[in-house]
Amino acid sequence: MSSIVLFGPPGAGKGTQAERITTSTGLPQVSTGDMLRAAVKQQTPTGIEAKEYMEAGLLVPDSIIIDLIRDRIKLPDAQAGVMFDGFPRTIPQAEALAQITAVSHVIAIEVPDERIVDRICGRYSCGNCGSVYHETFNPVSNSGCECGDFIEKRRADDNKETVKSRLSAYHEQTSPLADWYDNKGIFHRVNGDRDINLISDDILLALKK
Ligand SMILES: [Zn+2]
Repeated sequence: MSSIVLFGPPGAGKGTQAERITTSTGLPQVSTGDMLRAAVKQQTPTGIEAKEYMEAGLLVPDSIIIDLIRDRIKLPDAQAGVMFDGFPRTIPQAEALAQITAVSHVIAIEVPDERIVDRICGRYSCGNCGSVYHETFNPVSNSGCECGDFIEKRRADDNKETVKSRLSAYHEQTSPLADWYDNKGIFHRVNGDRDINLISDDILLALKK
């Protein structure tokens, strides 16, 4: 079996592409964040252990995450591999992952920072129905939201400074990892600043290499 790792900064459209990859390849999406939350909620032994770290305000150790992944990839739907989303984030994590499963492709969706700032910072939603709008790309019409009761809602962390610092944290974290995978010859960069269909076409092409 061999797995895929998907990288992409916040606001790069990673969620959409992840769905398309699972549809095209049949590989299930494995998000370590979701797995961790589920384990905590279900109070599994690993979940109970993880919760102690979280409650103490500490990072959950890699060994716990690796345990979760080890269990996940034993499930029947993972026999051909999985698509990792949000993991690994560091070289030690990538090394630990390599011990338990083979990774054949690492796909990085790349979008210039300033484009991401534009995308994220113009976002707002209707607090009444949840419809999502964008100042430039999809503004609410003059007559208001389709639900008939438009209440503008913006996320506090969607401001320019916060987005920029999230992006620099992302680059700081991923660039050593990108080099690490690049040295193994399995790293593929995909231009994510285009139509979503073109991005998925490129990803599927890269997965065939
Ligand atoms: Zn509405």
